[in-house]
Amino acid sequence: MSTIFSKIIAREIPADIVYEDDLVLAFRDIAPQAPVHVLIIPKKEIATVNDISIADEAALGRLFTVAAKIASDEGIAESGYRLIVNCNEDGGQEVFHLHMHILGGRRLGPMLAKR
Ligand code: AMP
Repeated sequence: MSTIFSKIIAREIPADIVYEDDLVLAFRDIAPQAPVHVLIIPKKEIATVNDISIADEAALGRLFTVAAKIASDEGIAESGYRLIVNCNEDGGQEVFHLHMHILGGRRLGPMLAKR
């Protein structure tokens, strides 16, 4: 099932794209939670982490190399940042096209909200 992220890949809706190659696309989150908040997605439609297969390893590895490049480009590599991949309801996933959040530019606080 396609999501809004497939429409961004196809340029059917606008996005502030910061990086693209054959395997992945990165764009700024529309509702940023930190001064830097970028999403990196595989171009292949993978709904959740549960749907990953071995054939996806190259694209998923690319998410990390591109995350490091974007962190450097955005000037947060040394100050630090957080990479998040949410899965399904308890993980807080809202868009069912696998994506990695890059968050940085301020102290992000504890990893999880207090209950
Ligand atoms: P998640 O909760 O991990 O599924 O995160 C989905 C993220 O996608 C949220 O941070 C949204 O703000 C972001 N988002 C949803 N629609 C768009 C869009 N059209 N362009 C950029 N980011 C979006």
